[in-house]
Amino acid sequence: MLLLPVCFGHSWAGEILALTGARIIDGNGGAPLEDGAIVIQGSEISAIGPASVVPANARVLDLADMTLLPGLIDAHIHIGGSGGGSADPREFTPTAVENSLLSYLKFGVTTIYDMAAHPSLNSMKTVLETGELMGPRLYGNGFGITAPGSHPIRLITELGLLEYLGPFYFQVDNVADAREAIRSISAQQVDGIKLFHSRVEAGTTRFDADMEKLKPDILHTLIEEAHTRSLKVYAHTSFPSEVREFVEAGGDVVVHSVHMAETGANEVFELMAERDVAYIPTLAVFEGGYTSKPDSFFSPQLHDKVWDVLLASITAPDSVVLASREVPGLLNDRERSLEIAMANLGRALQTGVRIAMGSDAGNAGMLHGATVLREIQLMYEAGMTPMQVIVAATRNGAEVIGRGEELGTLEAGKLADIMVVNGDPLQDLSVLGNVELVVKNGKIINPGELEFKEVPQPTGDGF
Ligand SMILES: [Zn+2]
Repeated sequence: MLLLPVCFGHSWAGEILALTGARIIDGNGGAPLEDGAIVIQGSEISAIGPASVVPANARVLDLADMTLLPGLIDAHIHIGGSGGGSADPREFTPTAVENSLLSYLKFGVTTIYDMAAHPSLNSMKTVLETGELMGPRLYGNGFGITAPGSHPIRLITELGLLEYLGPFYFQVDNVADAREAIRSISAQQVDGIKLFHSRVEAGTTRFDADMEKLKPDILHTLIEEAHTRSLKVYAHTSFPSEVREFVEAGGDVVVHSVHMAETGANEVFELMAERDVAYIPTLAVFEGGYTSKPDSFFSPQLHDKVWDVLLASITAPDSVVLASREVPGLLNDRERSLEIAMANLGRALQTGVRIAMGSDAGNAGMLHGATVLREIQLMYEAGMTPMQVIVAATRNGAEVIGRGEELGTLEAGKLADIMVVNGDPLQDLSVLGNVELVVKNGKIINPGELEFKEVPQPTGDGF
């Protein structure tokens, strides 16, 4: 560990801070700057370059042997889901959410995008912005729109969550309701609109679901109404044909891999590249719980960055992650989906589609923060270079969520969100797990000092 004379959240109010002596990967994809310096004033980067950019009056933090890169951006998460195995009631406490937010910082993630649906997105944004709650920047859709009874309505019904989560989904089957849904959602200060346009459903085998999709006139209306309000439209899709319908209707971001077919994928990626529709592959979620064998992934160092209640819940006897492994056909199905998704990521890359990184954390077994490392590894295995993966997880992520002006790269004038890792991630991406320091909004955070809060063990009824 670095021994640094810095305190938790210290901001050096009024002072100029310089991070020096490090390798700098700025997020734009060019060659790294060796022995570079970043100057921070207030919440912004004021200069980046060789040591000569550091003003004489700056407070200097020497970071030799370290690599500086933009704070990571996880462009697809669900803060409303614990990411655990749903086997411990402590997972569903407000404190669990706070601990998951800390996990993001421990993994160097300074921005997250909630892809729907969380009951209290707006209030969480507020407490994160004021600093009342410690965590990454939070953006999101808050709500989802789907065809009546389609994904994820059936899934949340089966999980017994309809009463709790149902109000955050609009099920529309006519144009008037589509208009009303967008009007109503946009009144909630959301950052985008999430649509489900898929005839298969997560949590089922590919053969036992053939859900209704959004009808063409409804799809068009939803996208048009969202764009009128300057909101981007994000879609859950599965087949190439669904992606094509979404893109041709004017959609902006495809938030999962094309994971149901390879045939026809190339043509769809060509169309996406032409219209600059971005792609978030979410490979890890197709693995079906990389966390179910924790010893193979969680080194002691990584283990410390995860609230142990969540990991224990995943391997508990009543874990839904383990139970899902007993669903006939589901594992084979996911394995095949992952193969298709990996192959299609290669195609998307070849075609020049803009790719961003998203973990889909919050789903069962997809831990907040930790899943980013797994996702990054899978993107690399699918054929992306370490630099391409880093650009996807930084600059592209910021652009895809509409924050490219202020976040995603290390450049003068941008917000100072920086990740400091020990080693060279261009040689080995697992180095991204060695987070020594995080800078968010110009403030230095020592991840080793972020302590998970305890929640009392449940005592029976009324917990
Ligand atoms: Zn998702």
